[in-house]
Amino acid sequence: MSSRKPYDYLIVGSGLFGAMFAYRAHEAGKKCLVIDKRSHLGGNVFCESIDGINVHKYGAHIFHTSNPEVWNFVNSIVPFNRYTNSPVANYAGRLYNLPFNMNTFYQMWGVTTPEAAKAKIEEQRQEALSAMRAAGVTEPRNLEEQALLLIGRDIYETLIKGYTEKQWGRKCTDLPAFIIKRLPVRFVFDNNYFNDKYQGIPIGGYNILIDGLLAGVETKVNADFFENRSYWECLADKIVFTGKIDEFYDYRFGKLNYRTVRFEQEVVDRPNYQGNAVVNYTEASVPYTRIIEHKHFEMFGQSVYDVPTTVISREFSTEWQDGMEPYYPVNDEANNRLAQKYRELADAEPNVIFGGRLAEYKYYDMAPIIEKVLQLDII
Ligand code: FAD
Ligand code: UDP
Repeated sequence: MSSRKPYDYLIVGSGLFGAMFAYRAHEAGKKCLVIDKRSHLGGNVFCESIDGINVHKYGAHIFHTSNPEVWNFVNSIVPFNRYTNSPVANYAGRLYNLPFNMNTFYQMWGVTTPEAAKAKIEEQRQEALSAMRAAGVTEPRNLEEQALLLIGRDIYETLIKGYTEKQWGRKCTDLPAFIIKRLPVRFVFDNNYFNDKYQGIPIGGYNILIDGLLAGVETKVNADFFENRSYWECLADKIVFTGKIDEFYDYRFGKLNYRTVRFEQEVVDRPNYQGNAVVNYTEASVPYTRIIEHKHFEMFGQSVYDVPTTVISREFSTEWQDGMEPYYPVNDEANNRLAQKYRELADAEPNVIFGGRLAEYKYYDMAPIIEKVLQLDII
């Protein structure tokens, strides 16, 4: 690209999309500047080191994929460890394994064989089916009906209802059925939360992944695109924008909504607080949804005791307001319609690439972001 502007690409946002784009563009010989309004690089995968523990500042991040190209790519930047996500649920002081598997069924009902577990669930499914038939319904109309059909009332009331209502701030009867469809139900003793072929955490934390992607690329933090838009726009032929799409268009059609999470972080003066990275609190009366103990993402077995302290975060799910971090797009009809209007404007921009969670107003896990940028033609 012949240009009198100092950069080929101005990349707004140093999260996984921006960093990954910068890596590909730099590799293709393009001159890039990455700016971020936060005081650090990495977006939501950023970790802060406390007592040698990598604390996931914006919520627990577990990388998982079935795509070998994506897995090999990230491992070429930083090797990943063997962390396997196996959350535990705490309901009224009793612990249950997740996802729903033979361990859970044993803890719930004392059943020891897959046949006995299936029979128990089938009995409860039939109750749900007859209630639906009596109401003249054939397809589950909401999350509650879907959950009752999938797994029955005992598990729904103990492990799903309270957690889901806290997480989404809405009644299960007002939530769409699809949210719960992706939860695995297994008749084997397997606490691995994901069905993917590969999972893990970068050894040394996510900052190493981001630093590896941005090696050789110019970066600037504490730099908000909107505070000096015309200046930033003059610097490059093309812009890669990973911020909020509605903000890019000055909210001309109105504001998009998000769900967010508030974290209460605590350094605890003991080496092992809960024995697991993730414990979900599934009762409605506990105000937080889960407690993350960060050291378990990277320290296993005896090495947990090599660091005498531990860092935990309690997660409170809240409705987003201006000034809060926008985390999860709200996929209801009004927001989808609004997002579509902004996307139509974005599609007509010749020199701006909109990418990532905020610019596409779409929930992305990390691996699909990597996959998407690996497939882009950088010109
Ligand atoms: P972001 O990481 O949000 O990056 C956007 C960047 O743009 C930010 O750094 C922001 O500061 C910057 N920016 C925005 N506006 C401006 C502006 N005006 N000027 C300058 N900079 C700007 N994925 C998984 O695969 N596994 C998980 O376990 C997992 N857990 C998650 C938990 C939570 C709580 C959340 C919110 C997400 C989780 N994800 C997980 C998803 C993962 O975080 C995303 O896939 C990834 O962060 C998306 O990267 P991104 O670049 O699109 O967005
Ligand atoms: N879920 C639940 N109990 C749990 C964990 C999850 O009821 O202990 C439900 C909840 O509705 C959640 C959905 O399952 O929204 C999907 O869970 P997952 O962990 O995949 O979603 P995430 O929190 O990553 O959006």
